[in-house]
Amino acid sequence: MGDALMYDTNNIFAKILRGEIPNKTVFENDWVLAFEDISPQAKVHILVIPKGEYTDMDDFSKNGKPDEIVALFRSVHEITEKLGLDKDGYRLISNCRANGGQEVPHLHLHIMGGEPIGPLRAK
Ligand code: AMP
Repeated sequence: MGDALMYDTNNIFAKILRGEIPNKTVFENDWVLAFEDISPQAKVHILVIPKGEYTDMDDFSKNGKPDEIVALFRSVHEITEKLGLDKDGYRLISNCRANGGQEVPHLHLHIMGGEPIGPLRAK
């Protein structure tokens, strides 16, 4: 693991994966769980997480197994198609560590759509 941060098995998404905290699942397979963000910042706001223990995108893109990496990115298409976001588009974000503003230390992708999301950064 080298420079990867230590994975906290008590983070809130680990608890969701263990079924200890409820979630509104929109998609699941052997590698990935996707569920509604509890505090949506867009009409549609979904979080997509790998089932493996990865703290953030830096950890995952360095240490993720090829099957896990393919599964996570393929799931984006399956989820956006299922939710009807593929036609008009969406925004995909992953906040990494302190400068990225990451709050939950289990890698997650934010899918936001259902309406124009606006500029990448507030002016
Ligand atoms: P980030 O700042 O990228 O780490 O985003 C963490 C996201 O997790 C935020 O958008 C929160 O609203 C969301 N969140 C926190 N707890 C839960 C939960 N129990 N269920 C669903 N979403 C959550």
